[in-house]
Amino acid sequence: MVKTSTAINLAAIIKKQLPEELTAFMQLAGEVAQRHGQRLYLVGGVVRDLLLERANFDLDLVLEGDAISLAREMADVKGGKVTTHQRFGTAKLRWDDWSVDFTTARSESYPEPCALPVVKPASIKDDLFRRDFTINAMAVELGPSAYGQLLDLYGGRSDLEGKLIRVLHERSFIDDATRIWRGLRYEQRLGFELETVTLRWLKRDIAYLDRLSGDRLRHELELALKEEYPEKVLQRADALGVLARLHPKLKGDEWLAGKFREARCLSVPDASSFGLYLSLLGYRLSGEEAEQLISRLRLPKLAAQALRDTISLKNELASLTDPELSPSRIYSLVCGYATPAVMANALAGESAVACQHLNLFLSKLRYIKPALNGGDLMRMGIAPGPKIKETLKRLLEARLDGKVKTKRDEESLVKRLLAEAER
Ligand code: ATP
Repeated sequence: MVKTSTAINLAAIIKKQLPEELTAFMQLAGEVAQRHGQRLYLVGGVVRDLLLERANFDLDLVLEGDAISLAREMADVKGGKVTTHQRFGTAKLRWDDWSVDFTTARSESYPEPCALPVVKPASIKDDLFRRDFTINAMAVELGPSAYGQLLDLYGGRSDLEGKLIRVLHERSFIDDATRIWRGLRYEQRLGFELETVTLRWLKRDIAYLDRLSGDRLRHELELALKEEYPEKVLQRADALGVLARLHPKLKGDEWLAGKFREARCLSVPDASSFGLYLSLLGYRLSGEEAEQLISRLRLPKLAAQALRDTISLKNELASLTDPELSPSRIYSLVCGYATPAVMANALAGESAVACQHLNLFLSKLRYIKPALNGGDLMRMGIAPGPKIKETLKRLLEARLDGKVKTKRDEESLVKRLLAEAER
């Protein structure tokens, strides 16, 4: 684990924790940069995770110089593809299964609270100072003359030891309120705590969350829901009044935590997807409240539909409480709703029978298809047009209810239907 001392070299830890390919890449990039008289650093989350001995292969390299040129030079050596953002002085190099980000060291100033920053090239010291928390504001030298040397100007290592999330200056959350959500994520992921003064500033600046665009706020929520245990972040966000800034009716309580845990136990794909977590988070909202959340977060179509369907299905659950419902009836009541909405209701619905029906739909009914298709029906003499659709529906119902089991059974049923129609 972390040991605080004046100077520390991470070369051995890098060798131990990162794949050989990435280590060799960084060494080479450091040599190339040094040849140009420039300093190259490994920065941010990966340095934090190296010190914590947590797996992280997302390399962020910062150059005191033109990062795009360096990325291109490295691409000439390694092959692969460079994508650049001239305006931000950033480049991403991808080769084989690897990818590395290059950024020109920069300082940031915020013309207004929560506005996008004005950036200009600067020293590594300024670049580290623009970062969110001390534990993310460390760098490792990559040039051969000082390879592996840790640059810890703001007390990151000591905060790793003390398990503290600390901002670098008093205006940090005002400059960028997304850091509030970021802080909660790191705190809960790492089992750390917001440092006392940072916590005080966070509470003081909570209203700045309202200045963030829907897109930026949604992105933060998406990241929170991608954590291994998102419920922890939401519980903390609720306790601090951060969740209420998304919508005052949202709750990050024990109920929600239980539903998230159950969701992860589901043996279905997408059980920990954004759509399902969001549907569970929004489950207790009314239709109108859900619409407010959708517009605050500028939710994209699919996610918005999942949330809307969740509430509509919740309001229709009474129709699914009859234990005698046939599979085909269950299917017809449920099939129009988005999958995350069905899953959310299966987990959160109050009627055990309705939940059983929803689970039957999810595990079995939704995968059932007739063996015959439209072409087969036409070949059997059904005229093209609405009759085809109608017959396919009859075949599906028969399949769902176990009245036909084989293609043969289906053909007999079609023949019977044709004979009935002729009578
Ligand atoms: P994760 O493990 O969640 O991916 P990370 O630390 O790698 O964490 P990124 O979001 O990939 O986080 O950002 C990379 C680095 O950029 C961070 O470590 C931090 O130094 C800096 N950073 C990212 N977002 C901000 C922000 N909003 N304000 C200040 N610094 C930021």
